[in-house]
Amino acid sequence: MQLQGKVALVTGGSRGIGAAVVLALAGAGAAVAINYQQHEGAALLVKEEVEARGGKALLCRADVTGLAECEQMVGAVLEYFGRIDILVNNAGIRRDNILAMMKSADWDAVIDTNLKGVFNSCKAVLKPLLKQKSGGRIVNIASVPGLSGNSGQTNYAAAKAGVIAFTKSLAKELGKREITVNAVAPGFIETEMTEGLPQSIREKVRAQIALERLGKPAEVAAAVLFLAGESSSYITGAVLSIDGGLTL
Ligand code: NAP
Repeated sequence: MQLQGKVALVTGGSRGIGAAVVLALAGAGAAVAINYQQHEGAALLVKEEVEARGGKALLCRADVTGLAECEQMVGAVLEYFGRIDILVNNAGIRRDNILAMMKSADWDAVIDTNLKGVFNSCKAVLKPLLKQKSGGRIVNIASVPGLSGNSGQTNYAAAKAGVIAFTKSLAKELGKREITVNAVAPGFIETEMTEGLPQSIREKVRAQIALERLGKPAEVAAAVLFLAGESSSYITGAVLSIDGGLTL
């Protein structure tokens, strides 16, 4: 198995894309720390699924908006598994509104979670990763609005564009240490995050997608698994769109 002996931390691993990433990494042999913020029951179900398939998992509650909580989380992973090799920054929220109506609090919440959360988790993981001197993989979950913008999502698009620029900059910093840093930019994926979209918008979106359907969390997870594994050893600073051709 390609990730045997590796330890991965997935932020927001309790649901949606994060849960699919956890299962994909564990399926490839990695021991996986599953971060969540509120939904312990959902996170527990993911852990049980990993274990039922013969894998190893650890639950880590932490709010990624706080550096101290992220450091504690990474400390718990090191204490339990003894090392860390892969970080997947997946935790994210959306608080959509046109700018004229957007509250400051909704701007702050999205930037704090989707952008500062990536900074916090990377900061917390970096020291042990460098100390291990055995390379590593960081995969950030960006989004199509971070590439092309989206009406009603100035906060979300700005955060995800920030994640993309962060990814490229950190890739340049860490290349000499054999740590790769890449991002994926999913389009519309069937999760709780997109569940609430009105049917009219879903139909409008579907019409713009070359594959004429929304994506599945497992389809994003497959790309994350590739970027977290050995097969992507000469890829860093890349942004891989997983959008069924939405942005063509
Ligand atoms: P989701 O189903 O709403 O799940 C969000 C996950 O993030 C949950 O595990 C949640 O934990 C966690 N989370 C939220 N705030 C957190 C915080 N402050 N600290 C720690 N964990 C936190 O979302 P999703 O659709 O799977 O999206 C996952 C990622 O993909 C996000 O970054 C999103 O922006 C990105 N993305 C999604 C789509 C899409 O169409 N769905 C498209 C492009 C990009 P709890 O369960 O504990 O709340």
